[in-house]
Amino acid sequence: MKKIIYLQRVGDIEPGILIVLKKNLKWFFNKYGFKIVNLPNPLPLLESEYDSFKRQYDALKVKNRLIKYVKIKGYTRVLGVLDVDIFSKLLNFVFGVADLPKNKSFGSALISVTRLREDFYRRTENVTLFELRIHKEAIHELGHTFGLEHCTNFCVMKFSNDLEDTDQKPPKFCEECANRMAIFIDDFE
Ligand SMILES: [Zn+2]
Ligand SMILES: [Zn+2]
Repeated sequence: MKKIIYLQRVGDIEPGILIVLKKNLKWFFNKYGFKIVNLPNPLPLLESEYDSFKRQYDALKVKNRLIKYVKIKGYTRVLGVLDVDIFSKLLNFVFGVADLPKNKSFGSALISVTRLREDFYRRTENVTLFELRIHKEAIHELGHTFGLEHCTNFCVMKFSNDLEDTDQKPPKFCEECANRMAIFIDDFE
């Protein structure tokens, strides 16, 4: 299995966000031997994925489409990045979704940057903070695709109920999660 994480823009999103994210993730996943590649063309959002009552997109519908796309293309890991508000099942909103992998060969995850902006809460925009939050949520969701579950340590795999939780967790794995990650990817190419 090739050690590549593909970043996929989904819908209308500023490409610069992905360029910064790629740089940050490269720095993080380098120690595990993973390359980060930005896919050039955005994947459009579908009307069938929009809930006009909630005025949000259904994260699981988008993610399921991403999974099919991953399989067709033969990608091992894809992180979809959106700039629309998303919900998942009974949760009013989510920062992202991912599945624990059924097998090691592929995994897909999704994050939305919409609620990571200070702007969203009518506060003064802070680009550095915005980029850090995206970085944390991206590592978190990708972590799930490497078999990591939610963690109660001081760790990026801690579940975020709200933005405060995201801000409090560090942009890295705790020792236990780092060990699990190392074991998981041990027999990658
Ligand atoms: Zn999670
Ligand atoms: Zn942990």
